[in-house]
Amino acid sequence: MRNHFSLSNFLLALVLLLGLLLTITSLAQVPEASAGVNAQLSLTPTPFFRFPVVPNAEVSSKFDHYGDYDYVQDGYITFHDGQQSTPGNGFWFACPELGSSDWVGCEIAASSEATCPDDEELWYDAHYGIDFEYAANWRTGSECNLSQFAGITRPVYAPAAGKVQIIQLDNTYNGNAIFILHDLDGDGSYDDDKIRSAYLHFADNSIAVNVGDIVSEGQYLGLGGMTGKAWTPHLHFEVQRSNDPTFLTSKWPVDPYGWSGSGSDPWDYDNYPLWRYEVELPIMLKGFGDTYEPNDSFSAAYKIASDNWYYSYIWSESDQDWFQFNVFVPANQARYIEVWLESIPTGEDYDLALYRPNNSQLGFSYNSGNADEYIKKHVTQGGWYRARVTGYQDSSSQTDSYRLRVVVSEAPVIRAPYP
Ligand SMILES: [Zn+2]
Repeated sequence: MRNHFSLSNFLLALVLLLGLLLTITSLAQVPEASAGVNAQLSLTPTPFFRFPVVPNAEVSSKFDHYGDYDYVQDGYITFHDGQQSTPGNGFWFACPELGSSDWVGCEIAASSEATCPDDEELWYDAHYGIDFEYAANWRTGSECNLSQFAGITRPVYAPAAGKVQIIQLDNTYNGNAIFILHDLDGDGSYDDDKIRSAYLHFADNSIAVNVGDIVSEGQYLGLGGMTGKAWTPHLHFEVQRSNDPTFLTSKWPVDPYGWSGSGSDPWDYDNYPLWRYEVELPIMLKGFGDTYEPNDSFSAAYKIASDNWYYSYIWSESDQDWFQFNVFVPANQARYIEVWLESIPTGEDYDLALYRPNNSQLGFSYNSGNADEYIKKHVTQGGWYRARVTGYQDSSSQTDSYRLRVVVSEAPVIRAPYP
């Protein structure tokens, strides 16, 4: 017993000493002014991230440049382009049953609105990362009801090569999370450039990498979910820098969108654009590669659900995209099948065709140019129907997606006229 007691005393002393050293070290190294922070950054990164989620995640919340790194909600949100919400232009979103609330600002001023228009929300105040939503109905008003999001996940991929530094499990705020170090200066080492990316809220038992792993761009990291402090299934993506390669003594988040507003950046750290692709709000993900492949034939058609938008690409002249959806028609009833093909890239001409379960063509829409395509058909036979998207002549785009939606709805039974 005595020996054990001594050992634990010794360990306690060691822990206290280490803690003291750490405190002194961190006090010594935490910069007092942001100018000091900036002065310590010797590297100006060139954009190297592609987007970490596919397919089709929307960005719901970007980086708030206004305020200090203190998570204090001050009623202002400043976007990377300099647009700013003002107090009263936005609303407190509260979930009493979750014991939490957030200030949600609007990008564009609108008088006395209770909520922001969908595309003008800037979820949310004092947010230091980018949120990629997985659920189609993530928007305002639905967030308090977590059960509706049960089981919704999306694969998350490394947006750049790196080295897995930390994996957290069941963290109160982050849930299951991954931190990845990156090589900015191209010297082959991920350990010395003091920049890392963080990925929060993975589903339980889904993280597919280990600490120390070298991951390549596009490598599967795990299934994004909503563990930790999350009201919707989403990926919180955050880029952090430090003046310490271990990130133990200091760290601060930076905005991968950089700063393009007029005047000086209120977030007084170095914010460089790190995305390799065009910025949009909301973002439909670009530059990750073709989605739903291989779906180049009737038999390889990708299964889709009714009344959802699917975003994909005609990747090359020879690419064609097939989608299949199940139509259930009860006896003596009928259904309408409607198919929309929209957002065809400028300068391209895509066409749409509809096929019966036996691979015979039921309808087509071959409008010229990038005009929308639409088909509506009345059917009495059930089964797996197909929608086919093709590029006319040499039309294709690897940067701009199209979107496709199918809706199956009840239809009147059309009886043959009596003879
Ligand atoms: Zn977030």
